[in-house]
Amino acid sequence: MPDFDLIIIGAGPAGSATALHAGRNGLRVLLIDARTFPRDKVCSDALSAAVIAHVRELGLEDRLLDLDHVPVSQIGFHAPDGSSVTVPVLKIDSASRAASMICHRVLFDEMLFLAAKELENVTVRHWCRAVDVLTEGGRACGIVVDSGAGRMETLTATLLIGADGANSFLSRRMGLPRYSEYRVIAAQAYYSQVIGLRSHIEIHFPEAVLPGYVWVHPTRSSLANVGLALPLRACLDKRLHVKRALEEALEAPSLKERFAFAQRYGGTKVRLLPVGNPLREVHGEGFLLVGDAAGLATPCSIEGVANALISAHIAAEVAAEACRTGEAGADALLSYPGRLWRALGPGLELSGRLLSLRTPKSIGSLIRSAARRPHNAGWLSGVLIGSALPSEELNDLFSYLNFFRR
Ligand SMILES: Cc1cc2nc3c(=O)[nH]c(=O)nc-3n(C[C@H](O)[C@H](O)[C@H](O)COP(=O)(O)OP(=O)(O)OC[C@H]3O[C@@H](n4cnc5c(N)ncnc54)[C@H](O)[C@@H]3O)c2cc1C
Repeated sequence: MPDFDLIIIGAGPAGSATALHAGRNGLRVLLIDARTFPRDKVCSDALSAAVIAHVRELGLEDRLLDLDHVPVSQIGFHAPDGSSVTVPVLKIDSASRAASMICHRVLFDEMLFLAAKELENVTVRHWCRAVDVLTEGGRACGIVVDSGAGRMETLTATLLIGADGANSFLSRRMGLPRYSEYRVIAAQAYYSQVIGLRSHIEIHFPEAVLPGYVWVHPTRSSLANVGLALPLRACLDKRLHVKRALEEALEAPSLKERFAFAQRYGGTKVRLLPVGNPLREVHGEGFLLVGDAAGLATPCSIEGVANALISAHIAAEVAAEACRTGEAGADALLSYPGRLWRALGPGLELSGRLLSLRTPKSIGSLIRSAARRPHNAGWLSGVLIGSALPSEELNDLFSYLNFFRR
């Protein structure tokens, strides 16, 4: 008999949420992380309407709202030609008590982690790094962990869940493809003394970084969370040095005066993030991948927390079935990619295609159209950052374009 039903590698949002769902389903879960919580994560700290809806579904909305955060109900979009518009954030679940928020990931991730840890059948281990995978006839059946100072231990399970982030050890170790063309590069830093910071998310499209964008997010302190994200391919084609490109983007007309006295606080961090590609392999013999390990961040906004939570929910249900039947081979787990891509595939695919709309001309005309016609304004977030994608009514690029012609 294996030591656990499930071993979850990584206790970020994807891992902790999988542990929560699986623990509540009665599975014996081990949740490990190479670091100890609270731990930080480079992020723009925006929790979208979808994240709030899923946290609510987990029964944790009160805990979320108790965390130090900036409530956000509006997004400002700024085109290269200087036009701009501020639109409301659409709630996904009308019963949610918040539309969206900026919340430091150190707090959000710890909140989920502690909720998972409270469950009796969830065992948690910090400072515990998975360093090898045990296999039996090619099927993953356990891991070797390093708990520090070279203390190695072997742990077995019916099923492994890779929730180990953008550079997933489990995915690499099990030989899954890397999909290097589906990657975004992002630079993030904190700035003090940014003029005119309001409790809005700001999205700027300086021409030099298109199809990328720059975000400026308020935080609970006087600092602004500022960053640049763009597809790695575009960064290489344009020969951009991403840290320098961020600094130069802050000289764009929509930002220059606002950053005239700004001081960077600490260093600029650069990260590569796998983004959604519905053909990606996300499971194999004895294992499933969730969150960034499965490359689920949306290509045009790099938001990944909502999809991490959705993948966690589906993975936990598939895991419960696998543990009930004792069948954890790749074929028995096929319902995972099927259900995952049904839930996320259309949105991810569309999000990738929306990047092609990011020319100076189309961004300008979309923003001016939204400014002229308030009924279009709410949809702009869907078109420009792929957030709150509004259902089948607008599920392809042409529907969006037609909508704006109305
Ligand atoms: C610059 C930037 C800005 C972003 N901004 C946003 C945003 O505003 N909103 C949003 O929704 N998304 C944002 N994202 C994406 C978001 O951060 C990720 O999608 C999200 O963190 C995915 O969660 P996860 O649990 O899959 O991975 P992670 O949060 O990365 O957690 C993975 C965990 O696995 C652990 N781990 C790794 N390897 C091992 C190992 N071998 N053994 C044990 N543990 C291990 C790590 O310590 C870590 O705790 C941003 C990403 C970047 C890079």
